[in-house]
Amino acid sequence: NTFAEVDLGEALNLNIRRCKYVKPTPVQRHTIPISLAGRDLMACAQTGSGKTAAFCFPIISGIMKGQPPQRPLRGARTVYPLALILSPTRELSMQIHDEAKKFSYQTGVKVVVAYGGAPINHQLRELERGVDILVATPGRLVDLLERARVSLQLIKYLALDEADRMLDMGFEPQIRKIVEQMDMPPAGVRQTMLFSATFPKEIQRLASDFLANYIFLAV
Ligand code: AMP
Repeated sequence: NTFAEVDLGEALNLNIRRCKYVKPTPVQRHTIPISLAGRDLMACAQTGSGKTAAFCFPIISGIMKGQPPQRPLRGARTVYPLALILSPTRELSMQIHDEAKKFSYQTGVKVVVAYGGAPINHQLRELERGVDILVATPGRLVDLLERARVSLQLIKYLALDEADRMLDMGFEPQIRKIVEQMDMPPAGVRQTMLFSATFPKEIQRLASDFLANYIFLAV
């Protein structure tokens, strides 16, 4: 019933205390142990439920504890994030980025955000400085992939936030294109977390296409 009870790693636990998160919310209490155990997850969660931390904490913790990656040198301008968080809008992406940055303070984990409707140059410069966790909207990420500025070969964690909203906005083709790249060799095994407020047929189909042997949670 406290964050200290789950093994998130010392640096992250310190940040959690700094941010005065004392007790996990119900979504966090149920999803974090599953994600830390390495299982894929589909969770029904509303805005305000604390879902951002629910997917950010296991990702930050996993990257902190993992082996430092051997990043291939495909060309100095291509970056190889280890985690990808997809979100429907610029506003939500910025919020997730702020939260992920706060909690990765002094962990060595680097977070970068890329969204559409804003000039790409600043985002490219940020990416060039290195990225472990990329927070992105689907359209802008497809653009970065087509420019070969981002490769998804090393992705170990994928989080889809507000998946129902992404589908409502027509992002399904982009999302499928993105996930296809992570399924192609030499990309390795990935852990996927799908968060959605509703669970219609289209979302069930995404879950069965993207998740492996997953746990379904409705909190
Ligand atoms: P979210 O649903 O992720 O947008 O989070 C809603 C709000 O709750 C945000 O302002 C978070 O910073 C805050 N929050 C999330 N988890 C906790 C927690 N365990 N304790 C206190 N505040 C939290």
